[in-house]
Amino acid sequence: MYEGAIQELIDELGRLPGIGPKGAQRIAFYVLSADATDVGRLATALQKVKEQVRFCATCFNVAEAEQCRICRDPRRVDDVLCVVEEPKDVVAIERTGEFRGRYHVLGGAINPLDGIGPDNLRIRELMARLSGGDVKEIILATDPNTEGEATATYLALLMKPMGLNVTRLASGLPVGGDLEYADEITLGRAFAGRRSI
Ligand SMILES: [Zn+2]
Repeated sequence: MYEGAIQELIDELGRLPGIGPKGAQRIAFYVLSADATDVGRLATALQKVKEQVRFCATCFNVAEAEQCRICRDPRRVDDVLCVVEEPKDVVAIERTGEFRGRYHVLGGAINPLDGIGPDNLRIRELMARLSGGDVKEIILATDPNTEGEATATYLALLMKPMGLNVTRLASGLPVGGDLEYADEITLGRAFAGRRSI
């Protein structure tokens, strides 16, 4: 449609999640008209995220060191572990201020239609962490949708023989939704009202 660099940018933007062809075009022309310094900052931020950000060796949250900020924090308690699907869920739960334990990020949820089974998630790493014996309670905070429920059920069965207190967030969360879209108060209440399963 357009020639050269502007079309290349539209094509690249169009491959990003949540951006359709019209959105890609709008952003591309915004970049074209924007201040060169602002565009430079954006380009640097894109490059830096690939160079500097990696996954925490312990919990698989995003990190800029071997371990993430939460795993390095000595004030957090080691006996409660909250299992989530994605790093963005850690952010959502941290915002509630209800949780002082540690996290484990699975990297997704069980979804047979997309070919994602337990082996594609960081479940082996989770079980290895639990074998240490420090953790007494596991909070399964996967998304309140079909895949999240299937993942929570699978994990609960796996953990039952280990004698852990396995809890699931209380209802009240929008069913079928994403944890990250729940407001802080709803998510905070769901956290406080978690039940053993
Ligand atoms: Zn970590």
